[in-house]
Amino acid sequence: MQRKVRIHISGRVQGVGFRPTVWRQAVALGLTGFVRNVPAGVVLEASGAAAAVERLIAALRLRPPRQARIAALRVEEMAAAGRVASSFEIEHSAHSGDLQVGLPPDLAICAECRDELFDKANRRYRHPFINCTNCGPRFTIVARLPYDRESTSMAAFELCPACRAEYANPADRRFDAQPNACLECGPRLRLLDASGASRPGDPLDEALKLLRSGQILAIKSLGGYHLSCAAADAAALERLRARKHRPAKSLAVMFASLEELKRHCAVSLAEQAALLSEVAPIVILKRLATSTLPRLISPDTNDIGAFLPYTPLHHLLLAGLSPLVMTSANRAAEPIAITEQQLQPLLGTVADGALVHDRAILRRCDDSVLKLAAGQPLLLRRSRGLVPDPIGLPWSAPAILACGADLKSSIALTRADQVFLSQHIGDLEDYAAARFFRETIADFSALLGVRPSIVAHDLHPDYHSTRYALSAEAPPGQRLAVQHHHAHIAAGMLEHRLLAPLIGVALDGTGYGPDGSIWGGEFMVADLRSYRRLAHFKNYRLPGGAAAIQHPQRMAFSILLSEGLEAPPALLPELDTVQRAQLRALLLQGQHAPLSSSAGRLFDAVAALLGLGAEVSYEARAAIRLQSLADPRVVASYPFALLDEPPDGWVLSFGASLRALLADRLAGQRPAVIAAKFHNSVAAGVLAVCQRIRAVEGLQQVLLTGGVFQNDLLLELVRRSLRAAGFQVYSHSRVPPNDGGIALGQAAVALASVAQPAGPRP
Ligand code: ZN
Ligand code: ZN
Ligand code: FE
Repeated sequence: MQRKVRIHISGRVQGVGFRPTVWRQAVALGLTGFVRNVPAGVVLEASGAAAAVERLIAALRLRPPRQARIAALRVEEMAAAGRVASSFEIEHSAHSGDLQVGLPPDLAICAECRDELFDKANRRYRHPFINCTNCGPRFTIVARLPYDRESTSMAAFELCPACRAEYANPADRRFDAQPNACLECGPRLRLLDASGASRPGDPLDEALKLLRSGQILAIKSLGGYHLSCAAADAAALERLRARKHRPAKSLAVMFASLEELKRHCAVSLAEQAALLSEVAPIVILKRLATSTLPRLISPDTNDIGAFLPYTPLHHLLLAGLSPLVMTSANRAAEPIAITEQQLQPLLGTVADGALVHDRAILRRCDDSVLKLAAGQPLLLRRSRGLVPDPIGLPWSAPAILACGADLKSSIALTRADQVFLSQHIGDLEDYAAARFFRETIADFSALLGVRPSIVAHDLHPDYHSTRYALSAEAPPGQRLAVQHHHAHIAAGMLEHRLLAPLIGVALDGTGYGPDGSIWGGEFMVADLRSYRRLAHFKNYRLPGGAAAIQHPQRMAFSILLSEGLEAPPALLPELDTVQRAQLRALLLQGQHAPLSSSAGRLFDAVAALLGLGAEVSYEARAAIRLQSLADPRVVASYPFALLDEPPDGWVLSFGASLRALLADRLAGQRPAVIAAKFHNSVAAGVLAVCQRIRAVEGLQQVLLTGGVFQNDLLLELVRRSLRAAGFQVYSHSRVPPNDGGIALGQAAVALASVAQPAGPRP
């Protein structure tokens, strides 16, 4: 029996070798017809024996190409009669219709390409830009969709006959691989000196010589430039830190191989899988006591942010010298450099030279960063390798633009029933980052072909992102302000498709509350549409407002004062007698000292009491050091109180904890024990509040979110105690718990506010 079908497939199906896979299967099954890319994804027609057609459909469903993600596959029956094709063809792209196609993220070099890279007999032996359908740049080289070579920065390179033959042959691994190139026809490396002039000699060999001699090089990677130096060279590290004004924050380290990485870091199976994945993120790993790397790599923690080479150029460099520090090439809070023009100010000041090439980076994309917490990914930064993969929405809606928060900014844009969260943008206080924020909104709108009609933003009136959303510059349409912690919770709900009300626990640094105070230790009963704040961490005054973030010792002083306690001057050395008197007056009057329920500031204050609060040279430094210090074997905790304070709700007070903690400290208890006891106390307090809410509201599901939950020790403690008490516990795995996930939550809240079908899909 003969059968003819047309099959419509959407999802991540372009740029991932989908058409050649269809072609190979169809040809093997003796079918005729065609397959082509369309803006909506891929369409194919197949006719032949009914059993063969059935097998093709099954194969597409069960064995799609490695990097493909099928969102929907629809089979349309056609009249078997009529004109019958004599063969199966791959047709050229059609450029019309609705843009529904998914663009793949940049993919780390695959094993086959890596083997060819080091195979002397291969024509691409040591070709720094080797790639295939399963690997290589995508998001960072495409100007517009559909994803064809002429839409990418490879359009400038004409394929040589050998590359063209591969590109045109459906049986080849490089069929339609848009960045396909070789040593003959591909991009070329250049080495620049500190003045920006080209240096003679082989760029790779010369670059390695410079790195071996302790110099700092800018190196062009996939989504931007890295600054690199030999990781084992303490003097080079010191220079890099001094020049980049980055005294203490951890520097990422790239290792030539997993074997070498394992000589310096403890690696679980889940961590290994993450390192080797096509995302190739920076994974925060425990440093081995036997590691010989200088402490200067991560002086504040016992971790190393480690990753493996993800471009052929990385492999060639690391084969010559490993490990290498690879940190974003930028100054202070500025976005990572992607053009030679942006690199210019770094040359001769931060970098002694640069290894560059002529394949343009069209889109900035920093490295993604994650930890594994109890085997689950805990994203700290969602960027290269993950963007622009969409996240599914529970229902379709008009396009929504979500402007995110100002720190760790990212934006989100919805199209139909999908939401696209942008790459990491940065801190919008920086002028260049604020410009990148606007560019990203324009870029995503163009890339996805949507005009937002709803603009969601944070409730904070002074956020740059809020001012943008309320300005004429933003797309016209409805505006929606979303409370910061409701957005944190909504982001997690969307990830897990949780649509019924649940208990949201947002432990965070800073978020604007509708009462004008600064929230950040919140217990809400929330769904996507609305929230009720049932409990919060006790309010304390922030001396100097936002300036308190820079001064954990002042925060400690404020909390102790409020609890009727005082630390001996030696414990808070930053504060002399005069300052203490001034602080006391300021706090008692409540001037320039807004109230805040921030959990982040409580962690800062405790860190300060343990001597970890000096020089906050990067965000959350004190809290990161506090976590790193805590001895996880300690099970004891401090007392806390849960006060009923209508109309405020329940107030979780760690005043008694602070009193006991101070006593421990003065009695000479080990700081590692005190830090652990404090973590345990917070976990016990969170459990107590959740139990109280469950008793009243009958809710079993708890979602954990907010920047404080980047602390995987705390996350684990809270998760374990809640589970033991019978709660179902959720945390983020697809977006960060920090403000990098806020835009997703704003989009979810906006979605629920404008369109909620009678019976939402589960
Ligand atoms: Zn490959
Ligand atoms: Zn070629
Ligand atoms: Fe936040």
